[in-house]
Amino acid sequence: MKGRDWFDYVPFINSSWTWKKICVVKDKFKHGYINNQWCDGNGEYSVAAGYRWLQGPQTKVHWFPVVWNRFNVPKHSFIAWLIIKERLLTKDRLLAFGIPNDGKCDLCSSHNEDHKHLFYQCEFSIRCWDILSGGGYVVSDLAFKKYL
Ligand SMILES: [Zn+2]
Repeated sequence: MKGRDWFDYVPFINSSWTWKKICVVKDKFKHGYINNQWCDGNGEYSVAAGYRWLQGPQTKVHWFPVVWNRFNVPKHSFIAWLIIKERLLTKDRLLAFGIPNDGKCDLCSSHNEDHKHLFYQCEFSIRCWDILSGGGYVVSDLAFKKYL
């Protein structure tokens, strides 16, 4: 690297995966810089403008303030985000990743544990939803997402 231009640098074939990935991002920025794609509103280059350009267009979801706000514990926000995205590591997902388990719901021990069962079909969950809502709450995936 010494005395060479960073923009023209090409990693060696035996370079680490991480270094090659950094160089791929560098090449993206180089291409964006040459084509004036990541200038901010004033026509100047900044790290923030480059980061926004690299991320691409973002859509704001309606449940964002419920999950991500300053009154929530960050760990709880993260778990709520996983639940909404249906990415919580339920037993069916663990099995899909090859992590052995009995597959049964730990709350009722009578059904297989997946996202839908854990939050909307398990008798224990239904009782919890009923208590939390003050009674009469219809538990379903659609009702939950409507609540958000
Ligand atoms: Zn259950």
